[in-house]
Amino acid sequence: MAEIINGRELAKQVNQNTSLRIAKLAQRGVQPGIADILVGNDPASRIYSRTKRRKAEQMGIKFMIAQFPESATEQELMRTIEQFNKDETINAILVQAPLPDHLDQVHLINAIDPQKDVDGFHPINVGKLYNKQPGNYPVACTPRGIMKMLEHYDVDLPGKNVVIVGRSILVGRPLQSLMINANATVTIAGRHTKNLSALTRTADILIVAAGQAKMIGANDVKPGAVVIDVGINRTAEGKLIGDVDFDAVKKVASLITPVPGGVGPMTVASMLAQSVDLTEWKINGEE
Ligand code: NAD
Repeated sequence: MAEIINGRELAKQVNQNTSLRIAKLAQRGVQPGIADILVGNDPASRIYSRTKRRKAEQMGIKFMIAQFPESATEQELMRTIEQFNKDETINAILVQAPLPDHLDQVHLINAIDPQKDVDGFHPINVGKLYNKQPGNYPVACTPRGIMKMLEHYDVDLPGKNVVIVGRSILVGRPLQSLMINANATVTIAGRHTKNLSALTRTADILIVAAGQAKMIGANDVKPGAVVIDVGINRTAEGKLIGDVDFDAVKKVASLITPVPGGVGPMTVASMLAQSVDLTEWKINGEE
């Protein structure tokens, strides 16, 4: 029976560490600041934004939500991003997805100052990660949280077969780079992958980020594998479940994340920690 990764507890530890760093910055008269750009009325995005704000403010981070109506134009948003880029009290800028169809997420991300790109989506930061450049730069928060989890649970990566299901810019692609940089042997699967089950069964570490409820069952997992479930799916009854059939897979895996209470809390904790990284790098001239 697998050991269950406690993402909530680990996120608490990460947040405690972040709070200590915020207190040290306060002694130097500095408060980290996050600007969250929210467009339209997507209920999940509004809840997510509020959760981030509550946590950030509890920890002493300034958190601004720039709320725009569904009809906002790219020009208006660009102007706001430009203002936040110049604003010395803002160290981290987020553009909350999903955006209405008439807005181009790529244009908006590319307009963010790479040194304030707390989501790690700007092509300059993605390129630095891809090339394993030395120095400090932000990386996507969900993959960052996953790497922290694996480190905390002493999961050895060099030479291990890692299979990632899902190749989005949010999860799969940056995670692939982080895993390669950690000397793992990485395969990344998508919708066109043939015989996925045979592939996932080769994984010492299987990470699933496809957004398909319970797509991975016990027969898709090698006995003793580490299984990280990124998926968040809502059942007809309103329950949150992952991409992995948790009850079945926990019987064959050695270590597994639950949904909820696994990757999710670590994503928020990683974003908050990264906003403090950006602040420290700025004032220490370490960008
Ligand atoms: P996305 O839709 O952008 O990407 C999904 C990827 O999965 C695509 O590359 C697609 O090719 C692949 N895919 C879909 N169905 C597949 C299948 N049957 N077989 C193989 N590959 C398949 O999604 P995303 O933004 O990367 O999110 C993925 C999931 O992770 C969603 O459920 C999302 O809610 C969740 N998520 C959770 C967190 C968190 O913090 N827990 C963070 C980000 C995303």
